[in-house]
Amino acid sequence: MKRIFLYALGSVCVLLFSSAALEAGNLRVLIVDGQNNHDWRETTRATRATLLAAGRFDVDVTTTPKKKASLTDWAAWRPEFSDYDVIVSNYNGELWPQEVRRDFMAYVEAGGGVVMVHAANNPFRDWPEFNQMIGLGWRSAELGRRVTIDDGTGEVRFEGPGEGRGAGHGKQHPYVVKVRRPDHPIMKGLPVAWLHGKDELYHGQRGPAENMTVLSSAFSAEDTRGTGAHEPITWVIPYGRGRVVTTVLGHHWPGQEDFDALHCVGFQTILVRSTEWAATQEVTLPIPQGFPTANAVSIVEPDKVSWTAAKSAEAAPRFTAGSCCDKAAKAGGACGHGCCKKARASGTVCVACNPR
Ligand code: ZN
Repeated sequence: MKRIFLYALGSVCVLLFSSAALEAGNLRVLIVDGQNNHDWRETTRATRATLLAAGRFDVDVTTTPKKKASLTDWAAWRPEFSDYDVIVSNYNGELWPQEVRRDFMAYVEAGGGVVMVHAANNPFRDWPEFNQMIGLGWRSAELGRRVTIDDGTGEVRFEGPGEGRGAGHGKQHPYVVKVRRPDHPIMKGLPVAWLHGKDELYHGQRGPAENMTVLSSAFSAEDTRGTGAHEPITWVIPYGRGRVVTTVLGHHWPGQEDFDALHCVGFQTILVRSTEWAATQEVTLPIPQGFPTANAVSIVEPDKVSWTAAKSAEAAPRFTAGSCCDKAAKAGGACGHGCCKKARASGTVCVACNPR
């Protein structure tokens, strides 16, 4: 009897301790990197800085062995996924050892969260469970279905293997991201359309595309060597008791001087909110000040983004009240003045029409 009582007391203490720890503590994030055709060091640095600036996360990084490393080196890489609330992948390289794949699948099946950033959906073509988790990856046209979004109705359309374009992207440029699921916690409160900083716009991504909820899309214009269709940008897929967010935003080449994609306040918002949602299925992080508008990009270094003094996107400064751009934006369009068009194309606001 006494022993049963002690066990019961022990369980109560554990429960109390756990809930207190969860309330008081930050979410534990593990970034995976180590191989990528992109500049993964800079991407991890920016990603980590953004997550830390949001004030909601503790961030660890695990780095895989280099390409063509020995089996001994790989055997020494055994990340403890289950120590974390969410995994953020910035990895695009060789297949992980079987034990690590098994641990990763078990982690997600048991309720873990994952966020795939940009080229993180490129690797592991022959790992079926991974393809299931990401829904769409950087694959050739015959390797799975393609997804596009009807701009007018928001309907998600599928093409079969071999039909239409395979994975690719056109010229890097700023582009408008359209929210397709405004009620999803990650997207709630965002402007329906916002201008993302210069980035690659992935098209023709391929995969099983099952149980996908497409949260946003972007028009891939033919004049930037795109497809002429709305391509999925950020989507979520349940896997076991866990969930996986994939966003194709966030390109950064080795030697690239600008950080327009990674430091875009829109990208940073999607990153932190996706990470929180993947971990908890809820989003408490607000939309920060200076969120981009439909007409102007907003590039801010992570430690200068204000997450505490957040305002709603509608209240974020954009155009001068009553200006031609302001009136056009309120009517749901964009100003047709040559100077305003030119400013918009370069991701800025025409100062002649919008004196501060
Ligand atoms: Zn890229």
